[in-house]
Amino acid sequence: MSVGTQRLRDDADRLRAGAIAKREDPKVVDAALEADAARRALSQRVDTLRTERKRLSAEVGALLGGKPVVPATDPKVLALKAESQKVATEMEGLEKELAADVREKYERVVKHKGADGMAPVEGQSCGGCFQQITGNMLSDLMLGRVVMCRSCGRLLYVPESSASA
Ligand SMILES: [Zn+2]
Repeated sequence: MSVGTQRLRDDADRLRAGAIAKREDPKVVDAALEADAARRALSQRVDTLRTERKRLSAEVGALLGGKPVVPATDPKVLALKAESQKVATEMEGLEKELAADVREKYERVVKHKGADGMAPVEGQSCGGCFQQITGNMLSDLMLGRVVMCRSCGRLLYVPESSASA
């Protein structure tokens, strides 16, 4: 578990209480946690598949390159190649799902809470409450992670215009 998630979890109760105090929907905190957990599970699966794929192609390489030479049409080679292809396809699908999942969870938060549930990052500050955010939060955002402002609880996002800056 990353430091970021732990922090989000530690903060969740405080954020929830803060949201209630401001008559806002505390569900936004749960949605963010859920989005983060889902994203994490998917990216672990992608990592596993990546490792598996590496292992399979090493195995194919060993079979083809070792002596005595196994023909490329050998059933074992073909089976390994097919398995490797399957893993690659699944990995690709998961990576797409990952991106879509994060986007979908963000959209749900906006629906729940209105556009005010989110705030753009302006420079190094939350665009909602203008509190400064940490460098860690900023780099998490750049990696497409779910990040909440620690002082107002809004979900942060990087505006299009500065995403490439
Ligand atoms: Zn804020």
